[in-house]
Amino acid sequence: MAPNMLKDWERLAGTISFRTDAFIDGAFVKSASERTFASLSPIDGRHLADIACCDEEDVNRAVNSARRAFEDGRWSARAPVERKKTLQNLARLIRKNANELALTETLDMGKPIADSTAIDIPAVANCFDWYAEAIDKVYDEIAPTAQSALALIAREPLGVVAAVVPWNFPLLMAAWKLAPALATGNSVILKPSERSSLSALHLAELAIEAGIPAGVFNVLPGLGSQTGRALGLHMDVDGLFFTGSTAVGKAFMEYSARSNLKKLGLELGGKSPNIILASYRDTKHAARTSAGSAFFNQGEMCTCPSRLIVENSIHDEVVETLVEVARDFAPGNPLDPKTTMGALVDEHHATGVLEFVESAKDEGADIATGGTRVRTETGGCYVQPTVFDNVKNHMKIARQEIFGPMLSVIPVENVEEAVQVANDTCYGLASAVWTDDLTTAHNVSKRIRAGMVYVNCYDCDDMSVPFGGYKQSGFGRDKSLHALEKYTELKTTWINIS
Ligand code: NAP
Ligand code: MG
Repeated sequence: MAPNMLKDWERLAGTISFRTDAFIDGAFVKSASERTFASLSPIDGRHLADIACCDEEDVNRAVNSARRAFEDGRWSARAPVERKKTLQNLARLIRKNANELALTETLDMGKPIADSTAIDIPAVANCFDWYAEAIDKVYDEIAPTAQSALALIAREPLGVVAAVVPWNFPLLMAAWKLAPALATGNSVILKPSERSSLSALHLAELAIEAGIPAGVFNVLPGLGSQTGRALGLHMDVDGLFFTGSTAVGKAFMEYSARSNLKKLGLELGGKSPNIILASYRDTKHAARTSAGSAFFNQGEMCTCPSRLIVENSIHDEVVETLVEVARDFAPGNPLDPKTTMGALVDEHHATGVLEFVESAKDEGADIATGGTRVRTETGGCYVQPTVFDNVKNHMKIARQEIFGPMLSVIPVENVEEAVQVANDTCYGLASAVWTDDLTTAHNVSKRIRAGMVYVNCYDCDDMSVPFGGYKQSGFGRDKSLHALEKYTELKTTWINIS
């Protein structure tokens, strides 16, 4: 059971200890240079840990260890049913350690403890269980060739796989990659974000306990420009699976091209359009749900419905409701189970988010609510939920990903203009349309160029449904059985039986 009082979480926060060394070849080790970087909590600036800062030498060690493990078959050659049992052990251990893991996420990146206990950690355990359950139930194929041959079509693991992940759902974004990659028999190297490395190191400890053999799972904390880059450029990494910004996703394509043409999966940024039409009968419900999704996780969501496109006739009612909901998301102490909005990940990010308020003013948007920094006395990074009104789609706040609790209302004349504005973006991750007209719902969802469309809802979630984007939101899909394709090669074997 998770504690339900602030004082209980405070007490646990006072006694929790963290793993801070890198995890290579089944052991916690200092980085080769013995350098570290400091982790400060965005809750109040408290010093959490000094964490191993891995560079190229550590990357080489981890890749060599992962390669040895892959080649000798200690994991890759195990029967799927055996890998299943081990990953189920891991899921069980994650549930057993849920309070510590949830607290680590909250201290490290500032999200409300209610969210890390109810959403992040259960979803991580569920993800490992889901791929564990799936892996001994997927079959290979035999092609319908002439009688004289037997053509086998089989999936084989890629080999050594790296996962480079962001900080907004630190362990969950990692799990979406680790679970299918491990289930299919790969050896994996995880590089967490330097802003949220602690839960990944705890996971390494649980992985040993679960029975994942040495070398099969490695964790390299470090800086993106060193550790992430070295993995991207490594000649012996077969696949690199990245979640993060579009700019860094492009860098990984260059690294791949300049090195060994390693396979890539890129889950990148978004500027998701959310269309509320007058043909939806409950305007308030649509606006309430939209605001809840925009402010969830401090708006630090790749799928944040940050562009709310609304028909003129219902504009005022929508904005009024958004402002009401914003009040329910007043930032509070993330360790308090009643808090619905926590701290932004760090000082640098909070400053960047607040610069969008200045830009909104300069370009002539209205600020319906929010726009300021709050709780400064805590020493933490708190920004009010913010609604920009009368936004034009060419403004910077409508074009760039803010990744904070800010949403732009863009009024339009009709459905036609709504679709045109929705698609006028370089991104294509999530999108939504609210309407009770069946024909409009189908038409609009077909015309929107995005990997995910929600009709009369937002942010629905199930492991069985693929997740990912079109355009500069990347390629490849996380979650669902489709993700297994990313972590495997397709091999065809012709056998002459004539
Ligand atoms: P980011 O700056 O792109 O960083 C992501 C990861 O890449 C981190 O581990 C980072 O390490 C590393 N990295 C940074 N620069 C690098 C470089 N030059 N070479 C190699 N690796 C590098 O993104 P973020 O700020 O952590 O996360 C926010 C972004 O993630 C947003 O754009 C958001 O939309 C996106 N996101 C997408 C999804 C999705 O599924 N589509 C889900 C969640 C988030 P350091 O942290 O150590 O720099
Ligand atoms: Mg942190």
